[in-house]
Amino acid sequence: MPLATVPIHTTCPDCGNVLVRSDMMRLMVCDDDLDQSFFSFTCPKCGKRVNRPAPTDVRDKIVAFVPTRHWQARPVPTGPPLTDDDLIRFGLEIEATSNATP
Ligand SMILES: [Zn+2]
Repeated sequence: MPLATVPIHTTCPDCGNVLVRSDMMRLMVCDDDLDQSFFSFTCPKCGKRVNRPAPTDVRDKIVAFVPTRHWQARPVPTGPPLTDDDLIRFGLEIEATSNATP
């Protein structure tokens, strides 16, 4: 079901109060650190891209109207953890590379 489009009052750092259609905004929810969540829009007055913080109260108000994406501040490590052998091998490879003649 598509989101309802509503006008949202917000602010541009250069233009002050502006009215932006909700479908012209993006809510970016940071899954591992909600304090880094933000919403963004293109200012209808100056045309600049604006990012604004999206604390819980703001997220709760706009999430039903603004297309939302989720992101993670920290990359999720994949694969096994590094071992001492990995570090030694890495050091040897760097040494071999720096000693190589072009
Ligand atoms: Zn502006």
